[in-house]
Amino acid sequence: MTSIATLGSHCSLQVLKGAKDEGLKTILVCEKKREKLYKRFPFIDELIIVDTFKEVLDKKCQSILEENNAVLIPHGTLVAQMSSEEIESIKTPVFGNKWILRWESDREMKEKLMREAKLPMPKPVTEPKEIEKLVIVKRQGAAGGKGYFMAASEEDYNAKRNQLISQGIISKDETLYIQEYAAGVLAYLTFFYSPLKEELEFFGVDQRHESDIEGLGRIPAEQQMKSNKVPSFNVIGNSPLVLRESLLDEVYKMGENFVEASKRVVSPGMNGPFCIEGVYDENAKFTSFEFSARIVAGSNIYMDGSPYYSLLFNETMSMGKRIAREVKTASESNQIDKITT
Ligand code: AMP
Repeated sequence: MTSIATLGSHCSLQVLKGAKDEGLKTILVCEKKREKLYKRFPFIDELIIVDTFKEVLDKKCQSILEENNAVLIPHGTLVAQMSSEEIESIKTPVFGNKWILRWESDREMKEKLMREAKLPMPKPVTEPKEIEKLVIVKRQGAAGGKGYFMAASEEDYNAKRNQLISQGIISKDETLYIQEYAAGVLAYLTFFYSPLKEELEFFGVDQRHESDIEGLGRIPAEQQMKSNKVPSFNVIGNSPLVLRESLLDEVYKMGENFVEASKRVVSPGMNGPFCIEGVYDENAKFTSFEFSARIVAGSNIYMDGSPYYSLLFNETMSMGKRIAREVKTASESNQIDKITT
């Protein structure tokens, strides 16, 4: 029988609970320091205790996963803590498309795929001296917004960059990515593409709460002006959002364009969960600054099902359970190759 494995962080509880609900064996690769936490949850059948998550690449861990016929569910922690080469070298079947995770981690590749998918994007700014409007400056990889900053001019950019370097938050030789700041209502749109059904499902929307940019909004302008701290975009948690129904058609179109573009650019395409991240402006026009090519932590809000999934399924369906359902269906019909890489 197939089992479901994942790293103990990010959205692992939801993934393994969903797998258990689907009757699959559940395995958690768990750091020693988190053993006590994860032992609290009875739906986790087996813990593989490691010192660091990189041990998932070791023979010992891989052979346990192989013995259990495991499918590994990738999430943000895998992307943040391992290089693309390391992820690509994982022998255990990875749910979705492990090759597309490189396109998520590398800013230039990311931009290329988003352009291919015709997603409306903020203008990239190639050099600090070209900063004319408010920009956001980002780091490579899934840094979770830590060390990001905003700048309104080249001088402002240099001052903030130097401040963050002196605080040890970013390093001197780090390549930073500059993009025009898009103002509006944050919306992180999560989808699931099933290669078995060849169908796209819209799962739901969430908003990220980021510190301390949000904290800054809670103090009066007078105090804001006196503060010389560079606010960061470190994700702290997520909250739910539903969209005006009139926006849904365009949401599906964006998801479909993304799936089609991924098929052309990085075989076998965008299978499984993914998220298109951006803002709606005052004309309800969406600008997308990011995508995640795997389950996002925002789906943790909907462990009991999302508003949009309750329209598609006559049962409680979390993203974790949806993944497990796909694995189970593929396993029963001998199509695991179709849903993993
Ligand atoms: P990212 O790593 O690209 O997901 O960015 C982290 C956070 O920075 C997002 O959740 C947004 O709050 C913010 N952000 C990123 N890019 C932009 C942008 N171009 N305009 C406005 N906010 C942005």
